[in-house]
Order: sequence, then C-alpha cells, then structure tokens
Amino acid sequence: MTTYKLALIPGDGIGVDVTDAAMKVMAAAASRFGFALESESFPWSCAYYLEHGTMMPEGGIETLRGFDAIYLGAVGWPATVPDSVSLHGLLLPIRKAFNQYANIRPHRLLPGVEGPLKAEGFDILCIRENTEGEYSGAGGRLHEGKDNEVAVETSVFTRAGVERILRFGFEQARARRGHLTSVTKSNAQKYSMVFWDEVTRELAAEYPDVTVSHMHIDAMAAKMVMAPQDLDVVVASNLFGDILTDLGAAIQGGLGFAASANINPDRSAPSMFEPVHGSAPDIAGQNIANPIAAIWSGAQMLEHLGEAEASTAVLAAIEAATAKGIGIRPGLNTTQEITAAVIAALEA
Ligand code: NAD
Repeated sequence: MTTYKLALIPGDGIGVDVTDAAMKVMAAAASRFGFALESESFPWSCAYYLEHGTMMPEGGIETLRGFDAIYLGAVGWPATVPDSVSLHGLLLPIRKAFNQYANIRPHRLLPGVEGPLKAEGFDILCIRENTEGEYSGAGGRLHEGKDNEVAVETSVFTRAGVERILRFGFEQARARRGHLTSVTKSNAQKYSMVFWDEVTRELAAEYPDVTVSHMHIDAMAAKMVMAPQDLDVVVASNLFGDILTDLGAAIQGGLGFAASANINPDRSAPSMFEPVHGSAPDIAGQNIANPIAAIWSGAQMLEHLGEAEASTAVLAAIEAATAKGIGIRPGLNTTQEITAAVIAALEA
C-alpha cells in the first residue's frame, strides 16, 4: 500500500478547525481508495511566535522538505502578531523555498450554492505567480518615524519566473477549454508588465491551440463580475492574482468555498495545499467555519499525489453534500455537520 507523508500546519483560528475537517475527509478517502496517509502536525502559528519569537524554528524548512506534501490551515492573528510578521515568517518562506511558483485557485459554483451574481455557468482556473513579483520582499524603510520617512518596495519580475508561470498557464489552458487570459497593468506599469506581455506573446507562438487575451487588472475585475462565464484559465502576478482570487471566492459564494494549491510543478520539493481564506478571528472557535474550501484543497492535494480517483471522489462528495443544501450558506450548518455530510457522501 502506498503511504504518503503529510506535514500539517493547522496554524491559527479557524485554520485549526478546517485542517481537522479536511484530514478526516482525507482519511476516509484513503481508506476507500487503498492508500495510507501518515501525518505529522507542526504547531507553527502566531501562538508559537509569541512563545518563541519566530513563526517556525530554525531548520523548519528543511524539516518540511522530507514530506510528500504540506497541508496548511491558515496563519494570522493580527491582535497579537502583525500580519506582515506572520505572513513573511511562515507562508511566504515556504512558497519561495520550495519553488511553489504556481498557485492554483478554481472558481466555480458548487451545486446548491447561490453566488451573488446572475451568472452561474462559470468555471475559472486562476493561476497566480507565487514566488516573486510584488511580494518579493525587496525594499526597505529609511528615517523611520521622522518627517522625511521613506518606504520603498520593489516588484521583481525575472524572465525565468514569468516564463514558467505563463507556460504553466498555457499547459492548463490546453488541458481545459483552450483559452488563456493574461492579466497585467501594462498601460501604467511600463517596465514589468510590458515585459510580462512580451513573454506572453512569445510563448503564445508555441501554443497555437490556445487562444490568448490580454486584460488589465481593472478591466478584469469588472469582467469577473459582468461575464465570468467567458473566462477559462487566468494567469496573473502575485499581487493581482491574490486580489482577483478573493473576487473569485466572492462570486463562487464566499471564502468558505475557495480552494488553493501552491504547486512546485517539477516536484523537486513538496507542494502546499491550503484554503484561500485566513484564520477568520471573528468566527474562530465557534464551530461555524465552512470546511469546504479546506476539503477541496485536500482534493487538490490528492490529485497532486497521484490519487486522481480519490480526488475526483472527494470533489463529488462535496458536490453531493452541497446539492443537498449542506453548507451552502453561512450559519446553516456547523463545521462538523458539513464534514460529516461530505464523509457520508464519500462512503456511500
Ligand atoms: P479571512 O479570510 O480570515 O476572513 C475574511 C472574512 O471571511 C471573515 O468575515 C471570516 O469570518 C470569513 N471567512 C473566512 N473563511 C471562512 C470560512 N471558511 N467559513 C466561513 N466564513 C469564513 O481574512 P482576514 O479577516 O482578512 O484575515 C484574518 C487573518 O488571516 C489575518 O491575520 C490574515 O493575515 C490571515 N490570512 C491568512 C491567510 C493564509 O494563511 N493563507 C490568508 C488570508 C488571510
């Protein structure tokens, strides 16, 4: 029997609840499809930071390297630890160290879920560059606290980084409906985004079967509301992809439905799976977090591990649960009820 080694980082707030829910579903999938999951949980979080002064111990990255995949709930507790510290101390270093350059986020309505739009038949795969761009961390502050204070933050776009994320997008488009939309702001950002557009055009020549659209981020935001059904694969930089995928989450009914995979496509290091949402301090500890985004992220993990049949079955079980009206609106069901309904559908 194949055994996969998983590193779990439940993190903060509802991250803990939804990781627990997702792992219960993963265990049910493993037993139905004949593979084993061996997991080790790491307490790295804001609580850990308050105790140790760091989000993860020295050597944390090397510890994670030995696993087949990393599953993360959510990290952040702004009341005690600044978000810039928690994000740059755990999540971003993992994405960068393991070259998880493709952040894949699907946006579509699950059966029974009513989104805020009239449009229903959309199925968007958003691919966000995950290791450089606006979140490269290059910058600094000068004369802090003085009148002449200066803050500089530089976006970094490398040819290797831009080319590989676009190539990944083209491959996804080829495997789906054959359309790729590249999102930039090349009218205003005349170096980095013009460069991104150029690389898109160069690669397009290698993918004659994929049709390509170029859109500015502002027009794209409007399009995702007005005509999301016209979109297939969307590729964007780190910041733009981050923002667009919250919009994507909104049109698919809310953050409780938005899954996310941080993929290292060449598999030289583990990939990481996590819902798009954060730790939701406002509902933490109340057993009302929707675990569907987290479970869907688990399905993405199974697919990446090579358990495609189990992945499809988990997604079908989520759909069976929402089709019955389970978990389709905030407050309708508890985290545990939704998890139990998905497991029941998976085992049926
Ligand atoms: P959030 O995603 O935690 O919450 C935004 C809103 O959506 C809240 O009202 C919350 O109750 C609701 N929500 C989120 N997930 C839900 C779910 N599964 N079910 C039901 N409702 C849900 O975003 P935020 O409030 O901006 O951030 C809170 C903390 O999380 C911050 O510290 C932030 O930095 C962090 N964060 C972490 C990640 C991550 O770990 N990947 C992502 C985003 C935010």
